Amino acid sequence: MLNASLKKIAAAGLLLLLASALPARERGDEHEAFDSHYTGDYLAFKKRILEEFRRAGPGRFSEFSRRSRAEKGGDHKVLAFTFDACGGRNDGYDRKLIAYLRREQIPATLFVTGLWIDKNREAFAELAEDPLFEIENHGLLHRLCSTEGRMKYGVRSTRGLGDVIDEMELNARKIAGLTGRRPVFFRSATAYTDDLSLKVAQRLGMEVVGYDVLSGDAARSSAKKISRNILGGARHGAVVIMHFNHPEWPVLQALERAVPELRRRGFSFGKLEDFTVK
Ligand SMILES: [Zn+2]
Repeated sequence: MLNASLKKIAAAGLLLLLASALPARERGDEHEAFDSHYTGDYLAFKKRILEEFRRAGPGRFSEFSRRSRAEKGGDHKVLAFTFDACGGRNDGYDRKLIAYLRREQIPATLFVTGLWIDKNREAFAELAEDPLFEIENHGLLHRLCSTEGRMKYGVRSTRGLGDVIDEMELNARKIAGLTGRRPVFFRSATAYTDDLSLKVAQRLGMEVVGYDVLSGDAARSSAKKISRNILGGARHGAVVIMHFNHPEWPVLQALERAVPELRRRGFSFGKLEDFTVK
């Protein structure tokens, strides 16, 4: 009995040793803060997925827009507001924007990276507990998911399939570990990705979500312009992409303009999980 336990401990120790002996590059992670995510169990899982997709080609590289969704059980006019928190150097989040959504009771889907979560643990926990918000996956390190390492807008991309799996799966596990709910949607950094990454996401139990309406907040548009973009693209089931980690961008002011007009036109708002694929 004791002998068996000792063997188990020795085996676990060996696995840990092997994992830590791998150069950072091979683990696909240059951020030491995330080293603990690369458990023996995870590395074995990743190897299996890599094997499954070994022969698959990258397919089309595009700004993937997901298909229109129909709301469950009705034909109302419902918009899906989505807000990304990309991380990187942008600590914090737009508290006034979140307060506005709560005040107006506007449900929203928040796509968060592992980078952002680790810099904003308290805020993350608070947002995840609020039923008004749905927490989804924006990747562990905010890398554009391309199995060929293609880039867009100068945003760093994954270097291959292994990195794509890390980006999707490690952040899904991270979110599930912290909230008890595993994300079901994934948005690649910049929303650009390739067909193979779409399939990998599906294999991992997530659907890749692009957008239907580009708010233009990341292009440093004015509140007026962002509001015009949202009103111009509004239709039932449309996904609007915005950010909530840049308090200096006029997203709140844009919504203060657009929301009353959308309501006047008969629109309401829903989280992505409230929609089903047609
Ligand atoms: Zn982003």
